[in-house]
Amino acid sequence: MRNIDHFIAGLPFASGERQGDVFNPSEGAVQAQVRFGSAADLEKAVAAAREAFPGWAATNPQRRARVMFNFKALVEANIDDLALLLASEHGKVVADAKGDVQRGLEVIEYACGIPHALKGEYTIGAGPGIDVYSMRQPLGVVAGITPFNFPAMIPMWMFGVAIACGNTFILKPSERDPSVPVRLAELMKEAGLPDGVLNVVHGDKEMVDAILDHDDIRAISFVGSSDIAQYIYSRGTANNKRVQAFGGAKNHGIVMPDADLDQVVNDLAGAAFGSAGERCMALPVVVPVGDKTANALRAKLIPAIEGLRVGVSTDPDAHYGPVVNAAHKAKIESYIQMCADEGGELVIDGRGFSLQGHEEGFFIGPTFFDHVKPTFRSYREEIFGPVLQMVRAPDFESALKLPSEHDYGNGVAIFTRNGHAAREFAARVNVGMVGINVPIPVPVAYHTFGGWKRSGFGDIDQHGPEGVRFWTKNKKITQRWPDGSATGENAFVIPTMG
Ligand code: NAD
Repeated sequence: MRNIDHFIAGLPFASGERQGDVFNPSEGAVQAQVRFGSAADLEKAVAAAREAFPGWAATNPQRRARVMFNFKALVEANIDDLALLLASEHGKVVADAKGDVQRGLEVIEYACGIPHALKGEYTIGAGPGIDVYSMRQPLGVVAGITPFNFPAMIPMWMFGVAIACGNTFILKPSERDPSVPVRLAELMKEAGLPDGVLNVVHGDKEMVDAILDHDDIRAISFVGSSDIAQYIYSRGTANNKRVQAFGGAKNHGIVMPDADLDQVVNDLAGAAFGSAGERCMALPVVVPVGDKTANALRAKLIPAIEGLRVGVSTDPDAHYGPVVNAAHKAKIESYIQMCADEGGELVIDGRGFSLQGHEEGFFIGPTFFDHVKPTFRSYREEIFGPVLQMVRAPDFESALKLPSEHDYGNGVAIFTRNGHAAREFAARVNVGMVGINVPIPVPVAYHTFGGWKRSGFGDIDQHGPEGVRFWTKNKKITQRWPDGSATGENAFVIPTMG
């Protein structure tokens, strides 16, 4: 059986008494074992990162950017293999796995422009002979802890910007699909990154706690479920670290009576069921405004959902593949039962789906509920599976209230041809990322990404300019070069520029 090792100081590092199973979700079989590291293993990674830091921080930004350019070219040259490896551990279909890699690469492209992003501000003549300027400096050794659902994109969101800014990095990827993150670290080395600048450690809570408590780790970026995100934020900040922690989601798609329903059905099918619903920006709740819209949408949705093809991740015709493991499959199925018990109308039931020749795979057919109520627990909580819940709203104001009052606030979309309604909605909805006729409004890499409420703990978003802010500290310099002519200044009064 293949073992997945840590990657420390540019080399594989085999340590860890405990191991975790890595499945091939399409077959339901264990395909590899990942080592679960301890605090001692983390110490080795931190030591490597600490040692690499002064040299890397002193490397000029253009040279750091060159490594990013090389890495981008290497990832592009290896994208087919990376996508296959990713799909084999995650279960998403290969085309979607390529998208996972590609979205991460877009952040690397942003990081290629780091010399520009790191330029500070300068005011000449802020006072007599006085200039004020600022410089962004790296924090030191920093860490990222990532979820299973984007094993390429989310690590690249984090280490791309952090490393370009001059930090050295420790990545703790999800133990469910850890191979691609290691492969990315190997490609960074091949791209010219000095050993120790990017290290990968594997493990579960024990390793995460060691990261949270390590005195030499200055900042932590986390993406995962909300309870863990809150825990990471509280414990990390209590230990004086800068922390951003992004959590779960329950994104709504509001469908106005004037929306193009064929377009909505097409968008919803992809956004609700793509990647088996295992996306934090999936659209698992649809809110048609008015019963007429709801009935018309339902009539079009049913055949579209029934026509979805579920298959193994290498099936080029499959719309989506299996979910990540048996425990997650059981959890999703228990939510389907819960929603039915709560009084939702189970229009299409995806439980019991079996794929011929792959009967052990973790598959769930597409599931659709109508007449779901905002009081249902199955509506209030994240299901993270191929399950679409329809909540009917009588009017625009009630539709606006649903995502605004939901505990999660990651993404939301409105489908309409009415510019005024869209504008009102975007301005008033209490959610971090809004799509207008865009079902999955993940902002591009040079903007920033981040949800609100229980979807995001901390104040600074991921990637783009906010990423640069998160991974650097801002130094402010006030300088005076006196010409010797000034006399009689009262040094005991606070200086002003007046
Ligand atoms: P998860 O919270 O189970 O795991 C995330 C990371 O935390 C992993 O590295 C894991 O090893 C670690 N972890 C798990 N349990 C822990 C514990 N008790 N103590 C400390 N660390 C622990 O999340 P997941 O199932 O891998 O990913 C899916 C979740 O991530 C969903 O809730 C999804 O919405 C969310 N997500 C959010 C975003 C976003 O940007 N908001 C993006 C992607 C995924």
